[in-house]
Amino acid sequence: MIWDKEHECMPRPELEQLQLARLQETVQRVYDNVPFYREAFDNKGIRPGDIKSLEDLRLLPFTIKQDLRDNYPFDLFAVPQEDIVRLHASSGTTGKPTVVGYTKNDIDNWADLMARALTMAGATKKDVVQIAYGYGLFTGGLGFHYGTERSGATVVPISGGNTKRQLMLMEDFGTSVLCCTPSYALFLGEAAIEMGIDIKKQLKLKAGIFGAEPWSHNMRLELEKKLGIKALDIYGLSEIMGPGVACECFEQNGLHINEDFFLPEIINPETGEPLPYGEKGELVFTTISKEGIPVIRYRTRDISVLHAEVCECGRTMVRMERVTGRTDDMLIIRGVNVFPSQIESVLLEIGETEPHYLLVVDRQGNVDDLEIWVEVSEKMFSDEVKKLEHLEKKLRREIASILGISAKIKLVEPKTIPRSEGKAKRVVDKREL
Ligand SMILES: [Zn+2]
Repeated sequence: MIWDKEHECMPRPELEQLQLARLQETVQRVYDNVPFYREAFDNKGIRPGDIKSLEDLRLLPFTIKQDLRDNYPFDLFAVPQEDIVRLHASSGTTGKPTVVGYTKNDIDNWADLMARALTMAGATKKDVVQIAYGYGLFTGGLGFHYGTERSGATVVPISGGNTKRQLMLMEDFGTSVLCCTPSYALFLGEAAIEMGIDIKKQLKLKAGIFGAEPWSHNMRLELEKKLGIKALDIYGLSEIMGPGVACECFEQNGLHINEDFFLPEIINPETGEPLPYGEKGELVFTTISKEGIPVIRYRTRDISVLHAEVCECGRTMVRMERVTGRTDDMLIIRGVNVFPSQIESVLLEIGETEPHYLLVVDRQGNVDDLEIWVEVSEKMFSDEVKKLEHLEKKLRREIASILGISAKIKLVEPKTIPRSEGKAKRVVDKREL
């Protein structure tokens, strides 16, 4: 099933025409209405009329997160406040959050793009969709909420947390699609087993749409096995819209980017040079139909690869590979780039531990020290010391071969590592740099 076949399967030449028209219109609009962009364009000597083809996108200046902070709260908005019907904001831990505003049309389009995602996951009017993303200023909850309603499915707006009640309602309401972070989905699966719930018999779950944090292929396999579902990835960020910028179809070969609304680019994060399809780099998006806060070439810090080959599902939209990490989540340990998701992948591959882990980075003298805390099962922990030693060795060897650096492994008892009901915290960096 495809929600909006006309657009999602649009022949590329036609799509590119639509993209160019929308890009030109957006560039003119921000130039006329947002002093920040007028100044940035003027500094580069660019006029809206200079954008004659999609390739000219690269002439435009980048936008970074700091620009949103510097223009707090509303200075990047391209419409008067009376046309804004909703605000969302990031959960910044320090200082002011980044604020985004939506017009009535923006909210309407967002619901439609999310309906595309729900439909990709197989949701129809007959489905019950449980939204365990947080509701509030964070875009996750409400983004999924309006999209689910638009798709015609029944929405259970339970928000995050309260795991026992999540599972009770999941059973009683016959929830068939679960939406939350992958780490919380895993936690729900464990809690269900603990409560004696036979997931495959008592629950009607068939699909999960998981996002808001990077996760690995092995994590997908684990979730599919544990919950008896198809686990699909979704991508988004509030600066661009919220969830639904891209989502995965049943082929599970990357996430289709809603290119009629967002122009994707991959750039070299160091030089800012655009890279061709198939090459790994930083994802950059330009919104081409947003009214409230259009953004030009927004640097997401997320690392991915774009693929243009046609997908079996029939959609013509370019696919992005699952995000393996963020340029700012990336740890540099002894000069080597390390992403937490690489560790997760190794743990799931070996399969003798729980995929709950914590990276603790410290500096002894001038040398970085990486310690990886890994939870092992109750059974394993009560077994002979020999087995634990064997496992520790195996993990150390595997991780060294994947990361190219050595790490200390600390096996810990079940439930030692704090669980998260939202985004999981994977790194403790004690280095003072
Ligand atoms: Zn597809």
